[in-house]
Amino acid sequence: MSRVYNFSAGPAVLPEEVLKEAQEEMMDYRGCGMSVMEMSHRSAMFQQIIDEAEADLRELMNIPDNYKVLFVQGGAALQFAAIPMNLMKNGVADYIVTGLWAKKAFAEAKKYGKVNKIATSEDETFSYIPDCSDLPISEDADYVYICMNNTIYGTVFHELPNTKGKELVADISSCFLSEPLDVTKFGLLMGGVQKNVGPSGVQIVIVREDLIREDLPDYVPTMLSYKTQADNGSMYNTPPCYGIYMCGKVFKWIKNLGGLEAMKAHNEKKAAILYDFLDSSKMFKGTVRKEYRSLMNVPFVTGDADLDAKFVKEAKAAGFENLKGHRTVGGMRASIYNAMPIEGVEKLVAFMKKFEEENA
Ligand SMILES: *Cc1c(COP(=O)(O)O)cnc(C)c1O
Repeated sequence: MSRVYNFSAGPAVLPEEVLKEAQEEMMDYRGCGMSVMEMSHRSAMFQQIIDEAEADLRELMNIPDNYKVLFVQGGAALQFAAIPMNLMKNGVADYIVTGLWAKKAFAEAKKYGKVNKIATSEDETFSYIPDCSDLPISEDADYVYICMNNTIYGTVFHELPNTKGKELVADISSCFLSEPLDVTKFGLLMGGVQKNVGPSGVQIVIVREDLIREDLPDYVPTMLSYKTQADNGSMYNTPPCYGIYMCGKVFKWIKNLGGLEAMKAHNEKKAAILYDFLDSSKMFKGTVRKEYRSLMNVPFVTGDADLDAKFVKEAKAAGFENLKGHRTVGGMRASIYNAMPIEGVEKLVAFMKKFEEENA
């Protein structure tokens, strides 16, 4: 068996311990004679898996009792529709557009109400986070929306926007469980798990109970109503059982490492190794303003598209996979999620140094 260093933005690297455990349990999950993939979602065995996953997530993120945790499907992209459908009472929402995912969420929300783009960083290719201390928040806005960590551009909100009392809603797909987060500052948090938490096919929605409504417009599909999902313990229909099981394992892995403070320290250490090198290199440059740099996604360029392509190709041959930047921005991007070991980043930097010497 030979494993690469996988810098994919998502689906992405998972902890080897977790994969091995899943492998051990594949044929016979804890003596029940079948795989979790083959198990009824109505069985006591699966109920225990989902209950434990939720309990561990609540403990890790310190989620208060008045928030529901929902395991749903359809990608973060389907939540771009579910959020306005469920949260718009006045039919108004304010969006802060800091990248492609926020832009898509904004476009989708427009189908359901009056949606305002109250700030954007598109003027400089989303390389920064706009000042959100005093934005023109709409008086009747049902919520203010952000994408917390911008997976493609490599920026993150270090400071939350001043929403002037409106509910804050955040897409945390690519920074889920990467560091502590104060859940009480948000009305709703959502994220696809395939960046930092598990396999694709599961989204987690954490929503304050009083925002879950019964009086939704008739057009809202039953499956997209948070009320449906909450009332049925995420099992109105068959949930993504195996994915939830894998997420549960990752939650335990993080707990065993010391929780989100430990995760943050681990992620800061890794990011510093890469950013320090980028700041000292004559060939490679980070593309984001320093004060908004993400711990998770690190885009960089050489300034020469041919040299970028050569780098990606040679890196791949040396066992560093998925370093090509997003198709909309080019260059390179190293996603260094929770499960990327420090030595993966150290070896990548050593490889970049060697490449720089050879191609100077
Ligand atoms: C990947 C990603 C998405 C899209 O997720 P899907 O599960 O493919 O719909 C949305 N938001 C962010 C921040 C992402 O990183």
